[in-house]
Amino acid sequence: MALTTIDNFINNEFVKPTEGAYFDTFNPAHGVPHGQIPDSTKPDVDLAYKAASTAFTTWSKTTKAERSRILYKIADLIDARQDEFVRAESKDQGKPISLAKSVDIPRAAYNFRFFAGKILHSVEEAAELEGVGFNYSQRMPIGVAGLISPWNLPLYLLTWKIAPCIACGNTAICKPSEFTSLTAYMLCSVLKDAGLPAGVVNMVFGTGMKAGQALVEHPRIPLISFTGGTVTGAKIIANSAPYFKKLSLELGGKNANIVFADCDFEKALTTSLRSSFANQGEICLCGSRIFVERPIYEKFLNGLVEGAKKLKVGDPSAPDTNLGALVSKEHWEKVMSYIDLGVKEGGKIECGGQKPVSLQGEFQNGYFLEPTIISGLTPSCRVMREEIFGPVVTIYAFDTEEEVIQITNDSEYGLSCSIWTENGRRARRVAGEIQAGTVWVNTWMARDLRMPFGGMKKSGLGREGGEHSLDFYTELKTICLAD
Ligand code: NDP
Repeated sequence: MALTTIDNFINNEFVKPTEGAYFDTFNPAHGVPHGQIPDSTKPDVDLAYKAASTAFTTWSKTTKAERSRILYKIADLIDARQDEFVRAESKDQGKPISLAKSVDIPRAAYNFRFFAGKILHSVEEAAELEGVGFNYSQRMPIGVAGLISPWNLPLYLLTWKIAPCIACGNTAICKPSEFTSLTAYMLCSVLKDAGLPAGVVNMVFGTGMKAGQALVEHPRIPLISFTGGTVTGAKIIANSAPYFKKLSLELGGKNANIVFADCDFEKALTTSLRSSFANQGEICLCGSRIFVERPIYEKFLNGLVEGAKKLKVGDPSAPDTNLGALVSKEHWEKVMSYIDLGVKEGGKIECGGQKPVSLQGEFQNGYFLEPTIISGLTPSCRVMREEIFGPVVTIYAFDTEEEVIQITNDSEYGLSCSIWTENGRRARRVAGEIQAGTVWVNTWMARDLRMPFGGMKKSGLGREGGEHSLDFYTELKTICLAD
């Protein structure tokens, strides 16, 4: 089968990497290469920087109305090519096509639409300083931004960065994940067709070690927005420190899913199946530590196991598939190693733990894994503390509200948490105590782009969403006019 070769996108042109090197990218469901990605290096980032800094001089002065018009157009073109994007995202990432269609691609379009509207309707501060004068605040675009994204929600998360970045008048150099570059490549044509001026968005494909690091260490790129793992986040902090860059870091999680005995049982169970296994558990917001109040523990565990066994694992392009393939062989091996560790730590595999034997033929070498539930571990076990980022959850019985708050917060992560209870007072009380950037009560993954989003502790630095995105992608200054 012919491999799709993609190229960098600089100054609205597709260009080959300067050193001419490419590497294979794999179809996770088949375990075979299906494309070639430029192995970009520092000279490619330098070229992109030249284009982006030239474009900044005019784009930063373009009216908000014009920027907004182009962003709306980009959203419309993503919608118009939705099927194409959906198929590509599912094939490249391994995710079920139904998820790409209902979540990833509509959200990518919405990211542009949201910030197209947001910049037109935001108001700055103004205050009279009695007897002295009048102050007002003004936002300035910052310059060329480095946008580095992961592989789990490829276009969704990349556009979550591009849209506010360019809406605010900055220009961008993007480095999508080496594992999932296809939809970012397709987006380049959309940007061009929407009339985005040359150099405003540039894509440099390749690895984090080469292209990503060159962006982080580029002395003239003043801001980096990064979504990815906590270990990489720490490297980015260290490598960018000499340049005093503005950083937004959306990092890993080990999110709690707290189920009280007074919950709406069916709703808690159905949503917990989704929050455990959606996108093969490869969503930073998945609830991988399930804590169930003891009176309903057995019933909930049985229901969860029964539900997990019914989930269909297999061909990502089949409309009824629930779990596709994990993104890469390395990641599959990492997730499997945590299942082995769970057994060594004394856990019981309630279901899953294997590659489904039924997957043969073209799927025989795919990176599939059954939804896996592990019981019998204590909160101090590594499997209950470290991010696995796959279809593997632990389940644990708790006795009191105080206990579950303590074990939830006894984590180096603090990204999100779900609480299931029909007692409104308890919901507010527990939500108020939880150390996480987002707490959902009786729901999961309900995202409102107007609200702050980010992580506490090792789950991230800074907040994005609504005004917070504008805060990150602009410099805010105060101007004082004397009487
Ligand atoms: P990684 O941290 O491995 O990679 C993320 C991006 O950073 C990739 O583009 C990667 O390149 C690049 N990168 C790697 N090393 C460097 C470096 N030294 N300098 C600059 N860039 C670098 O994360 P994953 O892609 O494995 O994504 C999974 C992680 O992302 C999980 O921990 C998950 O929790 C987190 N995540 C967090 C979210 C949030 O909102 N908080 C949302 C989604 C995911 P390469 O292409 O080589 O991998």
